[in-house]
Amino acid sequence: MKLSKDNYFSLESNRYYMSVSQFKGFLEAYGGCEARSMAELSGEYERPGKAAFDEGHYIHAWNEGALADYKAEHPEIYSSQGPTKGQLKANYKHLNKMIEALETDDLVMKVLAGDKEVFMTGELFGLPWKIMIDSHQPVIEDTGAFADLKALKSLEDKFWNREQRVYENAIDHYGYNVQVAVYAEVEKQNMNRKDWAIPHMVIVTKQDPPDKEIIYFDYDAIESGLQIVRNNIDRVKAVKSGQVPPERCGRCDYCRQTKKAVIRHYCELAIY
Ligand SMILES: [Zn+2]
Repeated sequence: MKLSKDNYFSLESNRYYMSVSQFKGFLEAYGGCEARSMAELSGEYERPGKAAFDEGHYIHAWNEGALADYKAEHPEIYSSQGPTKGQLKANYKHLNKMIEALETDDLVMKVLAGDKEVFMTGELFGLPWKIMIDSHQPVIEDTGAFADLKALKSLEDKFWNREQRVYENAIDHYGYNVQVAVYAEVEKQNMNRKDWAIPHMVIVTKQDPPDKEIIYFDYDAIESGLQIVRNNIDRVKAVKSGQVPPERCGRCDYCRQTKKAVIRHYCELAIY
C-alpha cells in the first residue's frame, strides 16, 4: 500500500500499518484503550477533540511551506460574523504568534530545514509500520537528522504515571521518545544506513508569549524507546489481529460513552 498525504490518516492505512500513535492508542500508559482503538479501526467510533488536531495541521502546514493553501482550503478558520468578520479566529491568530516565535529563531529554522512531510514505511517487530517525518535532512553531521514539530501547553508540566507511580515530563508522558525511536529505526532501514540519524524535536508552547525548545535524543534514548515497543507489541498485535478480545480501560471517552454502570465499593475509586 503506497502512502500519500490523502491516505496517511485513513482507516485503510491504519488497518494495514502500525503507527506510533496507533501503538500508543492501545496502551493505557499513554491514555490509550484497546477497546477504543478497536472501535476506531472498525470505523464504529471516532474520537472527539478534532480542533487540537486542526491546529496541529496549521502549524505543520507552515513548516511545509503550505500555509497559504491551507488557509484557502479552510475558510472555517476565519470569523464569519461580528466585528472580527473576515479575520482569523483568535486561536489561529495565536498560532501565528507561535509560528513567528519559530521562524525568527535561526537555530530552530536550521533544525527544521530539509525535506518536509516525508512518508516512510518499514518493518519492526514483525509488523509493517508507517511514519511521517516533519523535517528530514538525510545527510548531515556524519549521519543524518530529522525533526518533529510539536505544540505543547507548556514545557514545565509534569504528569502522573499511574502504572509506574512516578511523575514524568511531557516527552515520556506523550511517548515522544517512542515516536522518535521508531522513526529513527524506520529511517535507518529506508536510508540503508549503519547508524541512526539524530532525532530532534522542536517544541513551541501555546503560552503567550510562546516558549520554544529544541530537544535531541541520543542512541540510548532510541534504544529505550524501542524497548517500550518491544515490551508491548505482542499484546497490541494479538488484539489488533482479533486473536485476543480488547480490554476496556473504563475511563476514556469511548468507555464512558458505552458504559453500563455497576455497583462498586467506595474504596475502589482510584485517586491517583
Ligand atoms: Zn477506554
